[in-house]
Amino acid sequence: GVTVAFSVGIISEVYGELLRAAGATERLVELLEAEPEIRAPEHPVALPSPAEGRVAFEHVVFRYPSRPETSALNDFSLTVSPGETVALVGPSGAGKTTVFQLLLRFYDPAQGRVVIDGVDARTAEPTDLRRRIALVSQDPVVFAASAMENIRYGRPDATDAEVIAAARDAAAHDFITTLPDGYDSFLGEKGVRLSGGERQRISIARALLRDPAILLLDEATSALDAENERLVQNALDRLMQGRTTLVIAHRLATVVEADRICVIETGRLVADGPHAELMRSSPLYRRLAELQFGSSST
Ligand code: ADP
Ligand code: MG
Repeated sequence: GVTVAFSVGIISEVYGELLRAAGATERLVELLEAEPEIRAPEHPVALPSPAEGRVAFEHVVFRYPSRPETSALNDFSLTVSPGETVALVGPSGAGKTTVFQLLLRFYDPAQGRVVIDGVDARTAEPTDLRRRIALVSQDPVVFAASAMENIRYGRPDATDAEVIAAARDAAAHDFITTLPDGYDSFLGEKGVRLSGGERQRISIARALLRDPAILLLDEATSALDAENERLVQNALDRLMQGRTTLVIAHRLATVVEADRICVIETGRLVADGPHAELMRSSPLYRRLAELQFGSSST
């Protein structure tokens, strides 16, 4: 028979992240209660092991079920090689977050394919697929649980020592040890309230623990204070090492440093290349670089 693709835990983790990325936390409960549309294949195709971190969108057409009249992605094609860093830029509503949703297979395309490590996402075991991807959103979810458990969410079988090592690499260890009960401190609404930068470092520690081949970053739009900014950026740089990274970019430094920038407009890929090239060749990119990134946001 057909099995439901995701456990509730995984759904709440990633939907939570994505909904926050989309600025729509209030829809979480609604979605959790909704009938999952994604089904696991009866005879899943094994993804290659070790993971490669190869991503391809092949002529993808996608419409959200609630808005069948509009294509959120329209003949969208993109190939990302293992280890590459690709920045996604484009006006609000262009389809950047949708790219992440399809990679995590929360939806399937109406036409075309999403291919990960050579395997059509529809034919892979969803948990297998999800295990090679980590998402760090603008406003990461912190669960009502201890700091230790919050990080362990990245890989439930990790030992305490592995959690602490990930926290160190994510520059989260120092602030966690200053909390009243250290790693046992209860976080979330009724526990210790963390700053935005601290939540991001928890989320980065989670991702480090998962050790994914593919990393999806939705860069924070609101500025962190200088110290947090530096700590988060250092942790991200460490996290990105040796992984394929797709980043929804809001900072000029990110697009300048990316291997390639993909400019998305109304669901289509309209330009693809490094910063200097796009500054010459793409009027839309030039406009975005001025308006969105501005010289002050480096
Ligand atoms: P971006 O991340 O580039 O700002 P999105 O990928 O979030 O853009 O959105 C692309 C298009 O899809 C927009 O027109 C947006 O309104 C629409 N959209 C996004 N999420 C949903 C959803 N859950 N249901 C219906 N439409 C959506
Ligand atoms: Mg978005």
